[in-house]
Amino acid sequence: MDKDIDVLVLGSLNMDLIIETDRNPYPGETIRGKAFYTSPGGKGDNQAVAIGRLGGNVSFMGCVGKDEYGRQLIANLIDNHVGTGGISELDGVSTGLAFINVFKGQNTIILYAGANGQCTIDQMKHYEGMIKRARILLMQLEIPLETVVWAASVAKKSDTMVVLNPAPAATLDDEFYHDIDVLVPNELEAQQLLDMEVKQRSDYDKMVTMLTDMGVKNAIITLGSKGMIYNSGSGIKHKPAYEVKAVDSTGAGDAFIGGLCYALAQGMDMDRATDYANAVAAISVMRIGAQSASPTAKEVEEFLA
Ligand code: ATP
Repeated sequence: MDKDIDVLVLGSLNMDLIIETDRNPYPGETIRGKAFYTSPGGKGDNQAVAIGRLGGNVSFMGCVGKDEYGRQLIANLIDNHVGTGGISELDGVSTGLAFINVFKGQNTIILYAGANGQCTIDQMKHYEGMIKRARILLMQLEIPLETVVWAASVAKKSDTMVVLNPAPAATLDDEFYHDIDVLVPNELEAQQLLDMEVKQRSDYDKMVTMLTDMGVKNAIITLGSKGMIYNSGSGIKHKPAYEVKAVDSTGAGDAFIGGLCYALAQGMDMDRATDYANAVAAISVMRIGAQSASPTAKEVEEFLA
């Protein structure tokens, strides 16, 4: 099978509906909003856009509702050079929505899965051929888990590398871990997956070992401004984050994973790919916003020079 897609993202597409207020309303109370805007989001969408902005060959598989928000999300992917041939527009269900109330820099979020929740195996089977044509299949856990498990099993039979960002964390079957080539949780997700609390620094190493013992080839636990811990050929390594002036860490994880998959698709080994992803995420935290903060390949080159 010709591998003509570098990275295929199977995941969620949301429209974020963001309102700025001075505080949260009390139950039964009405308060005035200060500003309102919409912004494309969803972990799948954010990670695909991060790859598209880097200039990667990336396509998307997922579901939106047959509505205005769905059309806007598809248009945004196209604008960011992401292929949209694997997206179903479903009748009778809304596009995924996130209602975000921002006040004093704090967010409260109500997530409505909408079409993401109907991203079933039956629906995604239409695009099974895309999984076979991809070098890397990148997924998160914002669509039904059985669809993610099915797609990973197709990928495994097709020599397609499986990268999973287990967010939000869920209980995964033991066999599923064997289908994952690269697992990228953040610190909290790693603790939830392993049902373990970090008490000392050596616990991070222990978590990477536990995940690889469970069948994952590579585990990368991201630690925010502390960088990451991961295994590569020569053992377990801690790589610090770049020291930058962080102004907004929203979407750092998505930028990191996008950068990682872009780098792996370019043939970089795990040490170089984590360096690259570290740089992509560092640039993104120096800027306000999520998708729009994600850099181009030229900006990463300049940062690393
Ligand atoms: P988010 O949910 O905000 O998208 P996350 O919790 O999934 O993030 P983090 O572990 O916070 O992911 O961060 C991912 C990566 O981003 C880190 O491993 C690091 O490379 C980079 N990063 C995050 N915060 C900073 C920072 N303050 N300075 C430099 N790099 C950062």
